Formats: sequence, structure tokens, C-alpha cells
Amino acid sequence: MCALAYARFPVSCGSARKAAMAGPSTWQMSGKDTSVQMFSACVGSLIALALIAGASPAAAAEKHDVLIEADSFADYGGWVLDPQYITRMGSSFPLAHGLGKPVANAKTATKFPSAGTYRLWVRTRDWVPSHHPGRFKVVLDGAELPETFGAKGEGWLWQDGGRVEIRANTASIELKDLTGFEGRCDALLFTSDMEAVPPAKADANMDAWRRRLLGLPADPPSAGTFGCVVVGGGVAGCAAALTAARLGLDVALIQNRPVLGGNASTELGIPPRGEKRSVVEEVAGRNRSAAIEAEKRIKLFLGWHAYGVRKGANRITRVGARHTSEGRELHFAAPVFIDCTGDGWIGYWAGADYRIGRESSAEFKESLAPKEADKVIHGITVEFGTRRAEGPVEFPDVPWAMEVAKANTDLNGHYGWECGQRRDVLGEAEEIRDYAFRAIYGSFRNVKRADPEKNANLELWVRHIVAGNESRRLMGDHILTQGDIQSQGPFDDAVATGGCFFCRHTPDDRRGFGMRFRLTGVKPCPIPFRSLYSRNVENLMPAGRCISATHIGFCSIKPMKTGGHMGVATGAAAYLCVERGATPRQVGKQYIRELQDIVNERGDYAARLRPKAAAR
Ligand SMILES: Cc1cc2nc3c(=O)[nH]c(=O)nc-3n(C[C@H](O)[C@H](O)[C@H](O)COP(=O)(O)OP(=O)(O)OC[C@H]3O[C@@H](n4cnc5c(N)ncnc54)[C@H](O)[C@@H]3O)c2cc1C
Repeated sequence: MCALAYARFPVSCGSARKAAMAGPSTWQMSGKDTSVQMFSACVGSLIALALIAGASPAAAAEKHDVLIEADSFADYGGWVLDPQYITRMGSSFPLAHGLGKPVANAKTATKFPSAGTYRLWVRTRDWVPSHHPGRFKVVLDGAELPETFGAKGEGWLWQDGGRVEIRANTASIELKDLTGFEGRCDALLFTSDMEAVPPAKADANMDAWRRRLLGLPADPPSAGTFGCVVVGGGVAGCAAALTAARLGLDVALIQNRPVLGGNASTELGIPPRGEKRSVVEEVAGRNRSAAIEAEKRIKLFLGWHAYGVRKGANRITRVGARHTSEGRELHFAAPVFIDCTGDGWIGYWAGADYRIGRESSAEFKESLAPKEADKVIHGITVEFGTRRAEGPVEFPDVPWAMEVAKANTDLNGHYGWECGQRRDVLGEAEEIRDYAFRAIYGSFRNVKRADPEKNANLELWVRHIVAGNESRRLMGDHILTQGDIQSQGPFDDAVATGGCFFCRHTPDDRRGFGMRFRLTGVKPCPIPFRSLYSRNVENLMPAGRCISATHIGFCSIKPMKTGGHMGVATGAAAYLCVERGATPRQVGKQYIRELQDIVNERGDYAARLRPKAAAR
């Protein structure tokens, strides 16, 4: 296991072609699977200019490369920002999520070092290569270019837009959606070198190339030094941050969406369930942002995506993050880190032991587990619904969706519309979401056509942000199992309460999407602190759905308020780590009674955990 290092190539000049052949980046992949392409690309930046000189400064033909990150466009028009796949494809990108109606143009103005002839490259993805539903055009200074983008090749690639004339030092650029069906544009490169080809693969070389063209520093500046860094602003992350701050730590809370709450956020609106606990109630409800913002010791980084860690020995020393649309980067140092990303990303980058998929029933003596271990998980959900509009609502034919939707006309039950249970939920995250889009659009089209008169006014809404479910589970000193939950421990180091039922999902293979679920009731059960810290990264604690549990254990601990309990416990443990100069494991061994006093709000801890605007 190796740490993902921060060190970068020094900023230097070179052509795009040369950059593509550059040496390996010092950003390393880490963790134990290689299915996810991890690299550090420049995400969202103001328009950057790079003057690429020839061999000598006196060279007659000066080369110019102008790289524009589409997520840095001044006006998105009707396009929406999609930051969900940064870890894999390297960037946020605008998405034309128009439900079949082309969305308004995204626009920006760009400075060029000089007028002249450039070759345009557009990084895009044809998300259904057999039909090209996500087509769009580029409009340059008001004139539509002949090339249609999002209609070639497979996967993210640079599509050649041909030669273009830049007539002045500033040009206006627009993205013109043609379909309303998920066209996507990551970046545009204008190069005066007609032979240059941008780096094809989203890897360390592309990262180094983008970084150089965008002028990003080799090492991101510090956001400050914190008592604790919490990554992921779902219910678990908010509860962790609030608890640690109220106990007196300066906390950085990093969340890659513009709102807090994870699956419970205003973007997704899933109602948090689980046992009550005072701090948890504050962040489970709609006022969570007010609670977080009122806490002066929390520095909130909304719209910041953590992309890697730096490590020394067995400890994380820093987390690196970048803004999802502005391209700025910062690093965050602290003695303790809490991973509330749901996917265990911080642990993964730090090389923490993890599991994914289902254990065999024999391994942990779990009667609810399958006989053989496999990689099946609870998949992601794209929330959607229908409503009756006042007048007729057109919906186009979607032939590219039909091989997924087939004859399905069942639009009921968002929770049943799960996808990707048998796929690599992290490595294929974008493809799984796109598959869900096709299932939904095709099914809606079937419903419209099945009874055109009755369904004339039927209108669809679909979210582009997915509700995450099962993913990596970071292993601690204890792995919570079915037996633990059914026997209710007991655990001497119990610090949270979970349970209610085991909610097991099985893929609906007949239909090709969706799932069936089975509930097995249990009483509320204690969660031991040993499941809330990494067994091999000594200053890392997971909270939420990525804690140390078997798959069956996870089926019981996934409600959001249960995650909130874990957040409180890890936030309190972070405080004890700092106060006592201890690791989480040492807190579990030496200070567990104090930790239990805090989470159970005994003595003066009740008052300390109450809402207040703590002065720095
Ligand atoms: C369809 C569906 C229905 C469900 N129904 C319920 C229900 O009714 N009640 C209930 O309690 N639970 C329900 N669950 C389960 C529950 O929503 C999840 O288990 C829960 O959200 C886990 O909470 P979390 O805080 O661990 O993760 P999340 O809610 O996923 O929050 C993690 C947050 O971290 C952010 N993040 C991730 N990576 C990074 C990064 N690199 N940098 C910065 N931020 C990052 C994400 O954007 C996200 O906002 C449901 C789940 C699904 C999918």
C-alpha cells in the first residue's frame, strides 16, 4: 500500500504533444484495487493561457495553447454542473440535463494571446455510441462550427473540432445542446500547433499537462491547520464536524456539493431514519446548514472535492481538495481525519484495508449472507418521478434507451430503481448512472406511448445527482456482523446505536435494473468504537455507510441517523485524540469511558454539546 503523494512536477513549458509523453506524475494510485483511475486533474479553472515557446525564445513561430475548462464557463445557461465523476475522469463537467428539450447555451468569453488560426479539441463523451443522444455544437463568436460533438468514439476523449479562426484577442464561446439528453463537455483546447494532440488518457500525464496549462501551483496552498478534518457533508459528516467543534476543535468540513446533507440534502431529499440523539437531530433536519454555519469553529468548504491524501508512515498528514468549478486547490492538515464520503475515499487513498461486496455465510457465520462470497452490492439510485402538467407535454422517441428499458412501463417506486449491483460501483460510476437514465427515459416513453391521451400531460422529473448506497467498507479492529447486531453486542466500547432491521437488496436480473428488498427486524443495537477507526491507518476514522462491517452488518447500519451517531462518536473521539495526544485506537483502549460520557451527554458534556456560537 502506498500513499498518494502531493508532490508535483514543477511548472514548465512544453507543447501539448510533449506533455502527453511526460514522465509519471508523483500523484500515485493507492489502495488495493486498480479499477479506479485516480489522478489529479485540474478541475474548473478560469481560462488559462499558456505560451508554449519553441526550442529557443527567438524561435519565429510561437505556439499558443488555450485550455478552457467547461466547468469554469461564466454562464452555464441550462446546463448543470456534474462533479460526481471527478475521481475517475478528472474533472467536473457541464451536463445538458434537459429531459429531451435542448437546454439554453452555456457561454463564456476567452482571451487569446493573439488572433490567428487554431485547432480546436473538445473533451467530451458519446454516452451511447450506437445512437449519440448527447450531441452538441460549439458556437464561436456567434458562428456555429460544423463539427457535432458528443457523437464519436467511446469513453471520454478529445474530439477534433478542426481549424478555427480567432479574429481578436477575445472570443465568445458557447455550448449549444442539440438534444436535451445529457450531452457533456469537459474542456476545450485551442492550439496554434496544428500537429499537437492533447493527452488521450485521464491519467497522471494528462493531469500534469492540464496543471501546467492552467498554471496551477505544484503544491496547493494551505487552507490552515485544523484540529480535525471531516470529508463528506452527509448526516454523518455534519454530526462529526458539529460535535468536534462544540468540544473545542477547529474543524474543516469538506463537501463536494453546493449543499450539505448527502442523501438527505435538498438535492435528494431522502428522509433520515434511525435512533434519535440530540446533535444528530440538528443535522438530520432541514436546518442543518444553519446549525453548521452557526458554529464558528467549523470552516465549511462547500463545493470542494477531496482528491487525495499525503501520508507519513501510517498517518495521513494532509488531504488535498479542489473547488468543483473554480479550479482552486487547497490542502488541509490535521492530526485526525474523519472519512464520511460514503465511499471510503480517504481511507482508500491512504491505503486503509477495506472490503466491498458480500461475504460468504461461512466467513462470519451469517445466516442472511449468500453461500458464496461475491461482489454484489446495493446499487445507486437515480431519483425520478412524474407529475401532471397543465397542458400536453411532448417527449421524444428515445431509441437509444429502449434496449435497457425494453417494455417496462412501471414508473412506481424510486427506491426500487436501483442500478449497478453487479458492476464496479466506483470504477463504472458514470456508466451506471447513465444506464439508469436510459431505463427511466425508455420506461417513460413507453408509458407515454401506451396511452397517449391519458398520459398527454404527464411530465417527468429526473435528478442527475445519484443517491449513493453501498460501497467500500473500511476495516477496523472489529468488523460488525449479523451476529453482533442480533445479539445486541454487548460491547464494552459501544458508542452509537444502530439497527431496526436488516434491509437486504437483491438485483432484479429479469428486468435488468431495479431490485427487490427483504427486511428482517432487529432491536436497536450498539455499535462498538472499534468499528469506527481504521485498523491500519492510525489517525483515520470512518463514519456513515463506510464503517467496518460485513455486508450484512452494513444492511443494518446504513440509515442516516445511525451514521449521525457514528459522526458524533468520531467527532468526540477526534477531540480526545487531540486533548490526550492519542490515536483513535488508544482512545478506544484508554479513554473509552470519557468517550462514552461525551456521546451519552453525561456531566458537563450535555452543556458543551448544546448549540452555541463558539468564539475562536
Ligand atoms: C434510494 C435510497 C433510499 C434510502 N432510504 C433511506 C431512508 O429512507 N432513510 C435513511 O436513513 N437512509 C436511507 N438510505 C440509506 C442512506 O441514504 C445512506 O446509507 C446514507 O446516506 C449514508 O450516509 P453518509 O453520510 O454515510 O453518506 P452520504 O449521504 O452519501 O453522504 C456523503 C457525502 O460526501 C460527499 N463526498 C463524497 N466524496 C467526497 C469527496 N471526495 N470530497 C468531498 N465530499 C465528498 C458526497 O457528495 C455526499 O454528500 C437510502 C439510500 C438509498 C440509495
